[in-house]
Amino acid sequence: MTSVKRPVYLDYHSTTPCDPRVVEAMLPCFTETFGNSSSRGHVFGRVAEELVEDARRRIAGLLGAQASEIIFTGGATESNNLAVTGAACARREAGDGNHVVSCVTEHKSVICPLERLEDEGFEVTMLPVDERGRIDLDVLSASLTENTILVTLMFASNEIGNIHPIAEVARRAHEVGAWVHTDAVQAIGKVPVNVNDLDVDMLSLSAHKFYGPKGIGALYRRESPRRVKLKPCIIGGGHERGVRSGTHNVPGIVGLATAFELAVQEREEESRRVAALRDRLESQLIEEIEGLVVNGDHEHRLPNNLSVSIPYVDGEALLLSLDDVAVSSGSACKSETAGTSHVIKALGREEDDGRGTIRFGLGRWTTEEEIDFAVGRVSETVNHLRALSTL
Ligand code: PMP
Repeated sequence: MTSVKRPVYLDYHSTTPCDPRVVEAMLPCFTETFGNSSSRGHVFGRVAEELVEDARRRIAGLLGAQASEIIFTGGATESNNLAVTGAACARREAGDGNHVVSCVTEHKSVICPLERLEDEGFEVTMLPVDERGRIDLDVLSASLTENTILVTLMFASNEIGNIHPIAEVARRAHEVGAWVHTDAVQAIGKVPVNVNDLDVDMLSLSAHKFYGPKGIGALYRRESPRRVKLKPCIIGGGHERGVRSGTHNVPGIVGLATAFELAVQEREEESRRVAALRDRLESQLIEEIEGLVVNGDHEHRLPNNLSVSIPYVDGEALLLSLDDVAVSSGSACKSETAGTSHVIKALGREEDDGRGTIRFGLGRWTTEEEIDFAVGRVSETVNHLRALSTL
């Protein structure tokens, strides 16, 4: 019998445990260096301010950015809201245009702000994807006009793991003068992320996706050669150059910088190891489960992602029966879970087929034993449900 510690966690896209090295770096900020970084009139404040600015420099360095281009936020939902709404509103006010381009497979934290912009009179184009979740660059080019002020496209999908050709998207968008934002939440620590190689104008990240704490993120905002202006969403004391008010979450910021450094340092080795485990998971599941379909772009995919659709199985029943393997039916980012996700639907799937979709997210502490255990449990459960099913 297996000695795997249960339940097995295979939902690293939804969140990750904090790395103990990150926790260690954060701990003194709660009790010793606890000052308010805006209270520059005394040493407590100045020490906290130095911690924030040191973290800002380290994060900027890891992205190939300048420290002044990093804005701390409460996570990627907030970064995405600020990037999309802030840039679109600032540009419309400047008279640059009112057209925004994005894609149907984006995270809800991009889609919902876009829907609101549309209500406010912006023109929004949502690019379709093919059956593997890929955009067509010619369709992108055809959608761009002199009126296009922003293109927002995620770097890597949290559901099907696709990696979009962001550098090429940016090149085409810049030809018409549009700014480019990318949600890079799932890419950090898995693939190289450099704002100059990608030539993006804004980039969102969130610490809890790469072994840092929850509730802290950042938005990179380019200053040169294009100077991105943002209309703030959260106003108050004027922190973060007036773009995001609110007392700094100093422990979170220190945790974000530390987690980011570790993710970059360990990226190559970790990605290789995790990709090998993902490939093992994929080939064993294909062998064990009849009719299983692997979703997404097999060539340009995150090393830690596997999304599969299993026909003739109810996805919710499958998840509920898998009580010792923590996986997800798609995005964990909306509260209602029933039904096919908007991403799987965008691949052109039938509702019933899509409903049996499971997303595996592998991570820093995933082992071969856990993968083999998960394969056993998933295939056993699928067979059991299929035997009971009338589908
Ligand atoms: N974008 C993507 C691609 C995500 O996967 C998530 C988290 N599920 C978010 C944005 C939102 O991040 P946060 O939890 O930091 O708000």
